Amino acid sequence: MDKCSFCGRSRKEAGMLIEGMSGHICDSCVDQAKQIITEESHRSTKKAAPKQKLLKPVQIFEFLNQYVIGQEDAKRSLAVAVYNHYKRIFQEDTDNEVEIEKSNIILVGETGTGKTLLARTIAKMLDVPFTIVDATVLTEAGYVGEDVESLLSRLLQAADYDVKRAQMGIVFIDEIDKIARKGDNPSITRDVSGEGVQQGLLKLLEGSVVNVPPQGGRKHPEQRFIEVDTKNILFICGGAFDGIQKKISKRLNTLVVGYHASRDKDQIDRDNLIKYIAPQDLRSFGLIPEIIGRLPLLTYLHPLDRAALRQILTDPKNALTKQYMKLFEIDGIKLTFDDNALEYIVDKAIEFKLGARGLRSICETIMLDAMFDAPTSKIKSLNITEDYCKSKLDKSTLKKLQAAI
Ligand code: ADP
Repeated sequence: MDKCSFCGRSRKEAGMLIEGMSGHICDSCVDQAKQIITEESHRSTKKAAPKQKLLKPVQIFEFLNQYVIGQEDAKRSLAVAVYNHYKRIFQEDTDNEVEIEKSNIILVGETGTGKTLLARTIAKMLDVPFTIVDATVLTEAGYVGEDVESLLSRLLQAADYDVKRAQMGIVFIDEIDKIARKGDNPSITRDVSGEGVQQGLLKLLEGSVVNVPPQGGRKHPEQRFIEVDTKNILFICGGAFDGIQKKISKRLNTLVVGYHASRDKDQIDRDNLIKYIAPQDLRSFGLIPEIIGRLPLLTYLHPLDRAALRQILTDPKNALTKQYMKLFEIDGIKLTFDDNALEYIVDKAIEFKLGARGLRSICETIMLDAMFDAPTSKIKSLNITEDYCKSKLDKSTLKKLQAAI
């Protein structure tokens, strides 16, 4: 009589028997086998995926160098922080005696200096889910706006709802400076988009199990939640902190009054105060001490100078000019840029005070006509000269360009 070669049940007992070369298998054994395979493959991907990619700090630094120009200090700090963070996750599996605490990061620097780019590049390198959330859309629970948990909904979406993967992801919270406390004293009226949000973020940053509405937005009682543990999620916060230089300068001045005053004063680089940033400056800016405590790694980005802008056009692995060359190459056209043309683009970005973000809009304006005509034309090469750039930019109204940023 035919029976399942795995569990021994007969054709009668089992719902269905599938015949193989030298035996049979019943439907429930097929189900069980499938379950074992899924569990095993989950386990092996969880362990293997990021581990093989765990580069040493020097290698992380070199990887960042391929995409981000300058910002050496930020890159070094990030490299160490990311290395320790992921090392900590793997160490947890093996040794529970010494618990390494999580080290979230805060990046301070003007807009368009590469904060988001750094976070995005790290996520790309690690191949972990990554999401960017604007802190300004968040409000305290119960008010119009998004609950803080919604940032985990986005991470879940980025991880295709694979909770395990999401729990190892990176969340970039942009414009963290915009949720600074509005006044120095705790206010009488509630500060629902400032201090209220900071309070809400605390539990996510330190690591706890959070009920996340899968679709984001606002929580409501009938909704189904997904539990997400934020213990191993790396939070990178970024903000311009406009005017923080004043607070730094004030602190430095009070510091140097005294015994070593004259000597120390000479050593301070007044043009670049941002590099002296310390946690107490964030506090005077309006971040609550608890938040600052949960963002132990504080680093800064320099404003980009002319040379850096020029490099951004051509040097990074996916530099703007390289992207255009590739686009044209697909149509069989060899695209080249004169040096003068590149200098001109940089000049304009500085003139319009648009920084690195402006480079892209300026290039788009210059390249638009060529991108429109080239695919149907018979040309085999195109060289972009300074005059060509001038003529295209003059055609577009500069005001329109500035509004586009
Ligand atoms: P931020 O987050 O600091 O406001 P972004 O990282 O979004 O700025 O930068 C905007 C764009 O400018 C990036 O997509 C990138 O093309 C370019 N960029 C800015 N800073 C750098 C940099 N240091 N190196 C290379 N490209 C940069």
